[in-house]
Amino acid sequence: MTGSVYEALGVPVILNAAGTLTRLSGAPVRPEVTAAMAEAAAGCVDMATLQAAASRRIAAATGAEAGYVAPGAAAALLLGAAACISGLERARMARLPDGKLPRREFLVVKSHRNSYDVALRLAGARFVEVGLPDRTSGAGVREADAFEIADAITEDTAGVFYVAQRGSIPTLPEVVAVAHAAGLPVLVDAAAELPPAANLKRFIAEGADLVAFSGGKAIGGPSASGILCGRADLVMAAALQHLDLDVFAHLWNPPAGLIDAARIGGPPRHGVGRAAKIGKEQVVGLLTALDLFCAEGDAARHARWLAVVKDIEAGLAADRLVADLGITLELRHADDTGRVPLLSLTLPPSHVAGAADLVRALEGGSPPVCVDQSDHQSGRLGFNPICLASDAGPRVAAATLAALRATFA
Ligand SMILES: *Cc1c(COP(=O)(O)O)cnc(C)c1O
Repeated sequence: MTGSVYEALGVPVILNAAGTLTRLSGAPVRPEVTAAMAEAAAGCVDMATLQAAASRRIAAATGAEAGYVAPGAAAALLLGAAACISGLERARMARLPDGKLPRREFLVVKSHRNSYDVALRLAGARFVEVGLPDRTSGAGVREADAFEIADAITEDTAGVFYVAQRGSIPTLPEVVAVAHAAGLPVLVDAAAELPPAANLKRFIAEGADLVAFSGGKAIGGPSASGILCGRADLVMAAALQHLDLDVFAHLWNPPAGLIDAARIGGPPRHGVGRAAKIGKEQVVGLLTALDLFCAEGDAARHARWLAVVKDIEAGLAADRLVADLGITLELRHADDTGRVPLLSLTLPPSHVAGAADLVRALEGGSPPVCVDQSDHQSGRLGFNPICLASDAGPRVAAATLAALRATFA
């Protein structure tokens, strides 16, 4: 069914064992999600009213005061940064992303810097790095201490940016403590921190003021969807800089659940978020996917994913070629329902140099097969089940065997 639209365009549909990568179009969305999106697309609604409804749903799922649907976690970070910088001051909203605006700096632990944080700079933020990543570079044991963040706060600080990953240090509660002591908000990038589903509530419970999640990763929403959740005043500030507000002030009647019109006075001009607009289909698709994600639960989802990687493992192990080449297969996170189960295929040292050729052979096949190539230079390929259909395992195994044969036999 998806075959025919892509076939008409001459674009091959891939077997995606690489995971929910944006360059590979994110996760396939479930039929329930596409059905809701099709229905949503057929009618017109007031976008602020739709976002107010989304806010209630997201608040219930995350424990936050309010929520908002953005076209991706990166866009949620852009809106969140704009909200932290402007607050509810219309004059500041009008100036973003002005590089001369006072109080637009975000403190960030140096080892938290990453390629996605350009989203904050787009909103006008300037990063001030704290700490030295000795642990990451191997030179020592530290990254940054909370007191270093406290020491770096000045009158130009707008907030603290925190990237939540397993093992991120300092811990979020430590960072929240020093930020809140200075009256500053903490904006958290938790884009890829699901599963476990408990993380939907965790960072808010730990005191984060705003949290961004990707909608197109494990949640299974449209690729161009994401969640911003947190304090109601900050979500309101984000909404005011994202919604289309080309309206007469005396006719402006925003939904009270999202925007307190009395607090802002009148509609600001289009804000920095206007260039990252979202459609009704994405909002409804994200909410539908979020419902399904919460309803399924970690255990059932993990079992569904584990079955797929076990099929790949069984298909590979059943062929003598794998043992003959000295390849080892390992199932990871098979017993941890809070993580995505993964299969890793490790080439023997004699074949490590051919790993890139193996990746090329897989991607050049028909259908193309994409695997997690992040460790290929160590001779390891990863198979991630999130974007694979429940019956795709045997086809991935067969394609991998064919690529192994073409590359090494
Ligand atoms: C994926 C990711 C993002 C971007 O999420 P999108 O929904 O694709 O915009 C941002 N930060 C981190 C750490 C990510 O892994």
